[in-house]
Amino acid sequence: MAAVVAEKLSRLFISVRQVPQLLAPPVPTTVSSSEQHNEAINVWTHLVATLILLLRFQQLSQRVDFGQDPHAQPLLIIITASITYLTFSTLAHLLQAKSEFWHYSFFFMDYVGVAIYQYGSALVHYYYAIEPSWHEKIQGFFMPTAALLAWLSCAGSCYAKFRYHQSAGLLGRLCQEMPSGLAYLLDISPVVHRICTASPAERTDPALLYHKCQVLFFLIGAFFFSHPYPEKLLPGKCYFFGQSHQIFHVFLVLCTLAQIEAVVLDYESRRHIYSSLQGDLAHHFSALCVFTVTCSVLTAAYMARKVRDKLSFKED
Ligand SMILES: [Zn+2]
Repeated sequence: MAAVVAEKLSRLFISVRQVPQLLAPPVPTTVSSSEQHNEAINVWTHLVATLILLLRFQQLSQRVDFGQDPHAQPLLIIITASITYLTFSTLAHLLQAKSEFWHYSFFFMDYVGVAIYQYGSALVHYYYAIEPSWHEKIQGFFMPTAALLAWLSCAGSCYAKFRYHQSAGLLGRLCQEMPSGLAYLLDISPVVHRICTASPAERTDPALLYHKCQVLFFLIGAFFFSHPYPEKLLPGKCYFFGQSHQIFHVFLVLCTLAQIEAVVLDYESRRHIYSSLQGDLAHHFSALCVFTVTCSVLTAAYMARKVRDKLSFKED
């Protein structure tokens, strides 16, 4: 069974031996050049975005006091979370074909990265972007619910991957997509509320324009994540370029970059609003972040153990 899966995987994804060739192109060996570029684009989108974020972070650290200013903690969390999810996703694309066990484990790691990013997004929208009128309505439950949904989306995705693997039916998709969908609806609500209630003068605020872009890019990305359209319309023509997952990657990266720009502008221009709304809660939100990350990592490690047990049972 393991051999069959490994053979199937090696047809679908590059093997770990091809990684150096992928990064410094290419002398094709066992995979066709189309497969190599197919994954190469998925990897490069995230690598380029990671590099842009690292440079942006270096630039920001010259004018933002991340060590001393507690109000800068959420900004630090979202930048770290973005770099983490991009790195974990890159690793999943590069190394999942190593073996069946690593295939699952890298996917689980990818889900941990997504959970961290979900929590980071919820935090910065709640902390910097929110209008006082929306804050008043949701302050009692927003952050704990966001943390719970981030963990649930990690746990649900790990479970669906473990239980249903590739052929996820309705139940598998529910486990995977429901918590993530609910999390997005909650996490983006401060931004959507602000867009909807902005006065004509506020509509030209550059931060608001970036927020509109992040919502638009996310929706386009989500569409291509769940609908393999170019492949459906042009069967056999999207191996090299234009696959829906590649388009999803590009829009997700654009969404993250627009989100970070919006948040940086909010951090700089809305201090009078968020400092009175949030008071000295930044440390609590950072502690909740550590707790959410710990729960997600432990869940992923537990599921990886279950995979190992299942595989060793199959071998016996
Ligand atoms: Zn991907």
